[in-house]
Order: sequence, then structure tokens, then C-alpha cells
Amino acid sequence: MSFLVLANVEKTYGDGTRAVRGIDLSIEKGELVVLLGPSGCGKTTTLRMIAGLELATGGSIRMDDNDVTLVRPSRRDVGMVFQFYALYPHLTVRENIGFPLRAAGGAPKDIRNRVDEIAARMDLVKFLSSYPKQLSGGDQQKVSLARAIIRHPAVYLMDEPLGTLDADQRLAMRELIRAEQLASKVTTIYVTHDQEEAMSLADRIVVMEGGRIRQVGTPAEVYDHPADLFVATFVGSPGMNFIPGEVAEERGSPFFSSKSGQVRIDVPRPSRFGQATLGIRCEHLHEDPRGPIAGHVLTEEYLGNASNVHLHTEVGPLIMRTDSVSKRARGADLRLRLDQTQISLFDASTEQRL
Ligand code: ATP
Repeated sequence: MSFLVLANVEKTYGDGTRAVRGIDLSIEKGELVVLLGPSGCGKTTTLRMIAGLELATGGSIRMDDNDVTLVRPSRRDVGMVFQFYALYPHLTVRENIGFPLRAAGGAPKDIRNRVDEIAARMDLVKFLSSYPKQLSGGDQQKVSLARAIIRHPAVYLMDEPLGTLDADQRLAMRELIRAEQLASKVTTIYVTHDQEEAMSLADRIVVMEGGRIRQVGTPAEVYDHPADLFVATFVGSPGMNFIPGEVAEERGSPFFSSKSGQVRIDVPRPSRFGQATLGIRCEHLHEDPRGPIAGHVLTEEYLGNASNVHLHTEVGPLIMRTDSVSKRARGADLRLRLDQTQISLFDASTEQRL
């Protein structure tokens, strides 16, 4: 049995808000699972139910083969890491980091060793005798994180722990969290609305929307084989390109024809023929004089080592990623080819992957 099992878990708040609508999720010991989704999709509520800070109004939660659905937070071995962690201003960095172990009655020598170890790993040794106010905001947040992860509970629950940091610090802290989690092997559930953070951290991503799970998969599965149009749009920057149309078959070969009718593309065999939306990532669109789609350049977004070229085409707006950074003239005509092995097809009415 998996280490953490949510079965048909529901949360309806007192005011009638259905924040979580029957989710099933199994998490293995040592996994780092990211709950990803837009604001209000129920990520924090799910995390708080696992912590015991909110009680589920339906379904059950099992941890390490025990039913914890109604168990108090203090009786669940979880460590919560939030966005803001207040440090104790009158304690040194060493005392702050070691605080949870001292509170748990650890031996001074063990605490000292563990603080030294974690400070070394997080590049905080030089601050150990300083007080929080002597540190920059980013370093204070690192100290907070060190304090949060010094203890090894059965589960870490992290709710947007990098929310207030700038881009560079987020990147560094992300690597740090991953390294520490891999070393400690503590099962971790991490909440974010940032799909890039999710992709870089997760063993598996749980994409949520409207209190429901849309897809559970490795970052590559979610990116390459999105389960529906929502996931295809939400994951990836930019989201997937879409072309409305229809999939049919001629002499045993499936093909897609655009709504406008003039563009025909060979596609992998779908599970069903009929009205469909073709999805293609921007890096799988290529400029090719013999490609099936005609269009022209609207704007080019310069990314340093690549460009996103925004196009107006006969099948609607598309974005193409190019490695070359040469500026294309606005209005320049071009033709496009799709990498056939990278095409996704979705049912036009259910929006599910075909
Ligand atoms: P965010 O990233 O903005 O925190 P989230 O995905 O974590 O969003 P939740 O905080 O779980 O979403 O909220 C899910 C829904 O439940 C939202 O509609 C929210 O307004 C509502 N909600 C959250 N807490 C309560 C509460 N205590 N009482 C009533 N409704 C609540």
C-alpha cells in the first residue's frame, strides 16, 4: 500500500464552498509530489487536510497504513513549511535553526552537529553567530527553511515556500530543497501555482482545477501527454498551440483537417474520429517552405538564446520557438511544418485527450 492515500476526499467549507471535490491520490514513501494549479483550485485545502488543520468533509486519508482522517495535527508526523516563517529575533541563526530539535528535547551535541551539517549544506555557516536582522531577506528565508527541514518528520508539507523570493533566490532554494529532500528521503508534498517550479522539482505533478484532479504524472508525462486542454494550456510557457478541426481516416491513414478546411495534417491514430482540437508545443513547429500551414509574423519575443515567434496563420494564431535569434521582419510570410510525433489530439466537446 502507498505511504499516503487520499480516497474520495472532499472539503465543503461552512459557507458552502466546495473547495475539494472527491480526489483520489496515492503517494509513495520518499516521493516529492507537487500540487499545481491556479489560485483557488484547492491546493492549500488539500495540504491542510493532510496536515489535519482542516477536517475532510468526505472520504478518507491514510498515512503509513493508519487512517488519520480524524486524527489531530499534533498526532500526525508532518512538518509544515509556509511562505512566511518568523524567525526569533533574540536568538542567533544557530539557535533558530536548532530550535525544533531543542523543543523536542534533543541532546545538545546532536543538535550542534545537525545544525552544522545543515548550515554547511545550505551555505549558512558564516551566519551561525549572527542575529536574523543582520541578514538579507533571502538569507533569512534560507534560515527559516533550514529550521523547517532540520527535523525529519514522516512528511513535509510545503505551501508556496519560495513565494516572496526573487527569481535568482527561488532557483537556488529550489535546488536546495530538492537536494535536501533527496538526501533525507522525507515524503514531500509541495504546493505551487508556478508550473516551472513544479516541473523542476517534482517526481510527480498533480494538476488541479476547480477542486478536482485533472492529471497525475511525471513532469514529462504532463508536459508531453497532457490529459486535457486545461493541462495543455496551464503547463508549459507558453501553453500548447491549438488548432480546431476534425480527425478522419482515408485508406487506413488518420489525418486532421482544420476547421477552415484548407490544411490537412497526418496524425497519429486517435482513440476516436470526429471533431477535435490538435495541440502542438511551440518547439515542435518548424519553418519549412513545404510545410502545410501558411502564415506571417506578428511579433518576435526575444529570449536571449531563443525566440518565440508569434504568428498569424490560416488556422489561427500560433507561437513557434526558434533557436536562432535573428529578428524576423514583422509581416514576413512563412510556411510551417509540425513535428508529427509530437502532436496531441483532444476531443472537441469533452476536451479530453484522444
Ligand atoms: P491559492 O493558491 O490562491 O491559495 P489554492 O489552490 O490553494 O489557492 P484554496 O486556498 O485551497 O486554493 O481554496 C480553494 C477554495 O476554497 C477557494 O475558492 C477559496 O476561496 C475557498 N476557501 C479556502 N478557505 C476557505 C474557508 N476557510 N472558508 C471558505 N472558503 C474557503
